[in-house]
Amino acid sequence: MSVMETLIRACLNGVPSEVEEAAKGEGLKPRVAARLVARGRIVLPSNPVRHHRTCAIGEGCRVKVNVNIGTSGERCDEALEVRKAHAALDNGADTLMDLSTGGDLPAIRKQILALDAPVGTVPVYEAVRRAGNAADVDGDLLFRVIREHCREGVDFLTLHCGVNHQALESLRSDPRIMSVVSRGGAFHVAMMVERGEENPLYAEYDYLLEILAETGVVISLGDGMRPGCLQDAARHAKTVEYLTLGALARRALSTGVQRMIEGPGHIPINQIGYNVRTIKELTDHAPLYLLGPIVTDIAPGYDHVVSAIGSAVACMHGADFLCMVSPSEHLALPLEHDIVEGTRVCCIAAHIGDLVREKEGYLAPREAQMAEARRRLDWEEQFRIALYGDVARSVHARDGTLETCSMCGDLCAMKLVKEIFNHEKVRSGKKRENGNGDPLYPGHENPRG
Ligand code: SF4
Repeated sequence: MSVMETLIRACLNGVPSEVEEAAKGEGLKPRVAARLVARGRIVLPSNPVRHHRTCAIGEGCRVKVNVNIGTSGERCDEALEVRKAHAALDNGADTLMDLSTGGDLPAIRKQILALDAPVGTVPVYEAVRRAGNAADVDGDLLFRVIREHCREGVDFLTLHCGVNHQALESLRSDPRIMSVVSRGGAFHVAMMVERGEENPLYAEYDYLLEILAETGVVISLGDGMRPGCLQDAARHAKTVEYLTLGALARRALSTGVQRMIEGPGHIPINQIGYNVRTIKELTDHAPLYLLGPIVTDIAPGYDHVVSAIGSAVACMHGADFLCMVSPSEHLALPLEHDIVEGTRVCCIAAHIGDLVREKEGYLAPREAQMAEARRRLDWEEQFRIALYGDVARSVHARDGTLETCSMCGDLCAMKLVKEIFNHEKVRSGKKRENGNGDPLYPGHENPRG
């Protein structure tokens, strides 16, 4: 595939090799996968200048997990960020975003781009660093940074094109407690207010699409107006932005640019279904990249759990791509162990989502395997099947080697019932189907598959 021929256009005429490979990994028919890419329901972040593992995001695909890493002005340890990136991939992340804002940004990005995973960035961060402050960023600088990221091999870019004057007006007419909590969103608000100009990404969206079409980079339409607390979830700004993103998503697809949509921030759990379905409907079912949903604001230190609860519910309603939230969220830049814990919890949410997505049941055998191993009190098999068997093993080992676990000990319900049924079986002389101790299901191959 040539660079100018976008993946979407190639999928209208056949099945490009990268789509065929992705389809194989997702258990989709290649032709079906190509059709879904052409309709914009699946994206494959894969900049032609880099080679890395394929990652299909969207309808019919396994829920994917992104992990953000990156320096800040307050803590800038490049080696730590690279270790965090490795830790994320080792623990199940499918993609990485480099959100660095401190130190030598191109040098850090180069190290992250050397890893075997799709990589995303938010170019406005670097534009602000170069200009010194958001108000001094103009369209020329922002587009220059975007072109550089595309040329270097970044696979997807978060661009806050929906933060326009209309969204700004809705913030003023229907104010929110937290106003704007998206960093990129806040930069654009500052640029627009200070300069008295429209957001260049919105005003010159056609030019932006030309750059992305030429370089084969995916646009992730940022949710700069996402609510930052539960009380703000019902205010107008996010809905105004949804409508804009819907129109922009359609324009991207019509020019052959792959796009996904970000949302929905902090919202109560009972509003998740409605928000996911609304975004999907307004954007012609573009893949939805979740930021949050944060479903309570009063559990700092446990926001990875809060986000996983919201993410699992969102996946049930059609969300496709989770952004890991670490235990440090809202508190500090995460350390390596925060990344490990956050990634693991996020992958659990993704797995829970996978269990009820359209290809319902394709992961269910592993769940059934675990039930069977638990019934048999087969600990080794349980550790093998578990998503994170190392953790399960260490917890079980705390009280030594027991046939049961130490929770109920000699009063273990499963042991008791197993003995009763074994006794009955001997008395009746009947052999229960699959009662020979063999697993009911064949072994699984990959950590989350
Ligand atoms: S001891 Fe209790 S918790 Fe442990 S395996 Fe038996 S029934 Fe389950």
